[in-house]
Amino acid sequence: MPSVPEPQDTGLLRLFFALPCPPEQTAAICQWRAGQALPGRPVPEANLHLTLAFLGAQPASLLPELYRLAQTVHCPAFELRLEHLDSLGHGFICLRPSRTPVALDQLATLLREALFEHGLVLPDSRTFVPHLTLTRQAPQHLHGQAPLFAWPVTHFGLYQSYNDAEGVHYRELASWPLRPPTPAPI
Ligand code: ATP
Ligand code: MG
Repeated sequence: MPSVPEPQDTGLLRLFFALPCPPEQTAAICQWRAGQALPGRPVPEANLHLTLAFLGAQPASLLPELYRLAQTVHCPAFELRLEHLDSLGHGFICLRPSRTPVALDQLATLLREALFEHGLVLPDSRTFVPHLTLTRQAPQHLHGQAPLFAWPVTHFGLYQSYNDAEGVHYRELASWPLRPPTPAPI
């Protein structure tokens, strides 16, 4: 097991809000990916996620404020349906939804607005583009259909990213539930 720095032991933490990929879908995605010979370096199985907002290096003393702020974000749960293979940025090969769920957009927007209202300037101010990275440093672009990987998104989390000799690891610091869907009237 890698040793995880405790927040109070480090001056700055590299933080991001994200949706974790559940174990069942992680296994299915990685099994499919193994047969695809995708270009680039595969993202480790334990690291599959969908970033909502990247905060960059922040003081550990900010954590209580981030926890409070995340609690104010109220969004409905939704189904995430990833079914497209796309190249993004510099050599990222990703799974993407063909249509961004309204609730996902709302979650990312509310979170980013809350961060902004608390005076946090995000390192990346670009429009939110939902994606789950499969490989990095791919020398060529890919666009196409993938099998449908879908799951109910019931919570979001705050993660610390840190590196050790084995590479990058993400540690979930806290997570918050999304609102369960209201049952349809009978
Ligand atoms: P490494 O950078 O060590 O190779 P990584 O990219 O997985 O590994 P981080 O850079 O800490 O780890 O990134 C954590 C998450 O935040 C990833 O989803 C990454 O794509 C996203 N991210 C990182 N930097 C930025 C940025 N400048 N703007 C937007 N998102 C970012
Ligand atoms: Mg990075």
